Amino acid sequence: ALVMQIIDGKQVAEKVLSECSDRIAALKEKGVTPGLAVVLVGEDPASKVYVGSKARKCVELGIYSRKIELPADSSQEEVMAVVEELNNDDKVHGILVQSPPPPHIDEEAIVRAINPAKDVDGFHPENVAKLALEDPTGFVPCTPAGCMRLLKEAGVETSGAEAVVIGRSMIVGKPMALLLMGKAGNATVTVAHSRTKDLAEVCRRADIIVAAIGKPEFVTADMVKDGATIIDVGINRVEDASKKSGYKLVGDVAYDECAPKCKAITPVPGGVGPMTIAMLMQNTVQAAEATL
Ligand code: NDP
Repeated sequence: ALVMQIIDGKQVAEKVLSECSDRIAALKEKGVTPGLAVVLVGEDPASKVYVGSKARKCVELGIYSRKIELPADSSQEEVMAVVEELNNDDKVHGILVQSPPPPHIDEEAIVRAINPAKDVDGFHPENVAKLALEDPTGFVPCTPAGCMRLLKEAGVETSGAEAVVIGRSMIVGKPMALLLMGKAGNATVTVAHSRTKDLAEVCRRADIIVAAIGKPEFVTADMVKDGATIIDVGINRVEDASKKSGYKLVGDVAYDECAPKCKAITPVPGGVGPMTIAMLMQNTVQAAEATL
């Protein structure tokens, strides 16, 4: 019988953050305090929570944190002006504009306006290119970088493995596929999406499934090979009358039925989620180190 491993994202995130602490101490000895600026346009409640926890994590680590909150009716030019100011601020090594901005804002233009050397989300075209080129001076998007670190810390062999990534977004699926395919992963990668035929059959080939779909409990046990590893990126709110908040968080994987078939699996919450913010801190440290 299999002994299933629940991959503890909180524990791995703590390890990443403690590595960051050491690097921050070394930077401070050289007179550099890493700085991260987070720009929030509008009042989206989930975005407010994310921005708040990013700022809090900075303070915990001794990273200089700037939070710039702009009203929902800010113009494109006003947001661009803030990005320009942050590009020119030597105390700020990392800049991110929390997604999604209000619909009248051209998010792509904002991302392109960020100095690529400060683009700690890794969404600027220059960093996308560097990821494809496997140039280590680029910034890797935080969530897929966190997934790779989880696989590594869990001792999952990616080299030669059949990996199926479900989802092809620029934030998760596509960079995840590049990382697994590249020298860091050496996996044989299939990328599935909404047009994929017979997804269940494709998934059953996988030694490693990375689910980044955005649909609650979409991956079911019949799609999982015995002994597979599952990384569940999904964060979905579903109603739950037994909770005080009225909802609970579930992943893109039906955990209860899939876990017994797995060699290793990430829970939601407590899997990929804590890694994303830890990798953001790591990218901010990398940005500061690059200025030395
Ligand atoms: P997107 O909505 O941008 O992408 C979803 C992808 O899933 C698309 O490529 C889409 O295909 C594919 N998809 C949708 N429906 C199906 C289907 N029925 N069958 C196969 N593929 C399908 O989402 P994100 O990549 O931004 O996020 C994915 C999930 O990860 C969400 O739950 C999000 O909340 C979560 N997330 C978690 C983070 C964390 O820190 N843990 C960070 C970022 C996201 P197509 O391209 O054809 O439309």
